[in-house]
Amino acid sequence: MSLKKTLSVASPLTLRIVAECPVTKARACELVLPHGAVNTPVFMPVGTQGTMKGITVDQLDALGCRICLGNTYHLGMRPGPDLIEKARGLHGFMNWKRNLLTDSGGFQMVSLVELSEVTEEGVKFKSPYDGKEILLSPEKSISIQNSLGSDIMMQLDDVVSSTVTGPRVEEAMHRSIRWLDRCIAANKNPDKQNLFAIIQGGLNAELRKACLDEMTRRDVPGFAIGGLSGGEEKDDFWRMVTLSTDHLPREKPRYLMGVGYAVDLVVCVALGCDMFDCVFPTRTARFGSALVPWGSLQVKQKQYAKDLQPIDPDCQCPTCKRHSRAYLHALFKSDTAAMHHITIHNISYQVSMTLLHFEFIVEIMYFKILPCLIIDFFFHNCVKQAKL
Ligand SMILES: [Zn+2]
Repeated sequence: MSLKKTLSVASPLTLRIVAECPVTKARACELVLPHGAVNTPVFMPVGTQGTMKGITVDQLDALGCRICLGNTYHLGMRPGPDLIEKARGLHGFMNWKRNLLTDSGGFQMVSLVELSEVTEEGVKFKSPYDGKEILLSPEKSISIQNSLGSDIMMQLDDVVSSTVTGPRVEEAMHRSIRWLDRCIAANKNPDKQNLFAIIQGGLNAELRKACLDEMTRRDVPGFAIGGLSGGEEKDDFWRMVTLSTDHLPREKPRYLMGVGYAVDLVVCVALGCDMFDCVFPTRTARFGSALVPWGSLQVKQKQYAKDLQPIDPDCQCPTCKRHSRAYLHALFKSDTAAMHHITIHNISYQVSMTLLHFEFIVEIMYFKILPCLIIDFFFHNCVKQAKL
């Protein structure tokens, strides 16, 4: 395939590396996007239809969130890009003044819509709303994301599950490269919106390396590591992450898609990833599961009915400052407000955890004080345990 070195347009982001861990690949950065600066490592909560389920934009802002996700598939279907464009993009529609990242819509389509078909043209599917056949092409995906006005747009990629093997993985990898070129060409706002490429190649090191070689020759503002976190063995997952970060350019942000469990975050920060997203913290909150440093706490369980402690006595979030486990337990039986309170706690937990990572990496680099060396040792051991 011929190399299309795209014309260099100054990308609307800058990445300043504040500190790098001397032992692992962990790094603390300041990522400046059109709607303000974001410290990385960062966890990005996932909104769906322009709303964060169970939390308002003001609450999200107050928790320190500086970037969140919007789903192109849902927003593109309803209310549709025209209305959102009229409302001054997704920022105006949601009244969210911080940064937004939108996905391509492809993943939702393949995972949510049973009758979808991938061809060279794009992803064909039947609308779940009116049954009409729709084609999501790379151009269409970028056109919707241009209307949404997100700070970071994702290329449309050919998604296959990480447990799939054989020629389909290779086909999807090559197609994702071709679709990246079509997305780059279709972007009407390269000076305002950052387009990220998505590295594919399944669990095959050769394919992933080939994808890295090709995609990093394109002048895109950032890269995502895709096609992982889909039920593969942890060893395979970590190997593919570290292979990717080994070959991604140091001066550009690296986004590991669909990863949000605490242990995965720690290891993947040590492996050099900067950005993460996952529906898990908000989805699990709606089932009454609160994230805590020792795992999770199921608020609905009988044992909390008379427990007057907060979810986590050390947590500084509004839920833990105001409400007890017993209150949330009682509320869960009668009111959806319990889900909102737990969602706030879970997002706060994730945002604070990545902020701590940022601080640790800076301290490891500059002060090398004892607690930091312990954390450094922890990062190092995580990497060793992953047998890398
Ligand atoms: Zn809390």
